[in-house]
Amino acid sequence: MTGTGAAGPVELTWREKRLEALAEKARQCHLCPLAQSRRLAVPGEGPADAALVLVGEAPGEKEDESGRPYVGNAGRLLDHLLEEAGLDRRRIFITGAVKCRPPGNRTPRASEIEVCSRHYLRPQIEIIRPRIVCPQGAAAVRAVLGPGVKLARVRGRPLERGGYTVFVTHHPAAVFYREELKNTLEQDMAALARLLDAQVR
Ligand code: URA
Repeated sequence: MTGTGAAGPVELTWREKRLEALAEKARQCHLCPLAQSRRLAVPGEGPADAALVLVGEAPGEKEDESGRPYVGNAGRLLDHLLEEAGLDRRRIFITGAVKCRPPGNRTPRASEIEVCSRHYLRPQIEIIRPRIVCPQGAAAVRAVLGPGVKLARVRGRPLERGGYTVFVTHHPAAVFYREELKNTLEQDMAALARLLDAQVR
């Protein structure tokens, strides 16, 4: 399998090939009802050997149209937060708890998160083998840490989990509804950047 680089076709690494095969499976997926209303699945994007995997909730309208994560309003806010924290988006693998847009941007159901994370998110993390996984928001916490874990109890501190560190933050879009969370989110993103620095040094 080949991809296209600035200098023409380039050989993909085994990680890139496995991630792309998984992404293709997600694009054809019919394992949950979200498949019926999505336009494009959004498997995620970023380097196959990223040290940091960021997990959001679900694609919104712009993501559903483009097949790319975080390209709408929440994406602009995420870009701003990343930049402020000194994190380079191009070096992060960005994905979601579910890969297809829920109708009307409703919260994904527990059953949708369960089936999607089992078939896509967890295999993605196994392939990438990042140092840090950052679930942003309750759906991502459920996808990464399982049901019964409350965001408020785990937010903002590193948790060691089977080979990588989990660092939970609020979802960037939470700031649209609760402006008072902006400071917390900024502080958490700064802490995430420090943690990443310490881990990859
Ligand atoms: N919110 C998410 O969680 N993911 C996206 O891709 C866009 C908005």
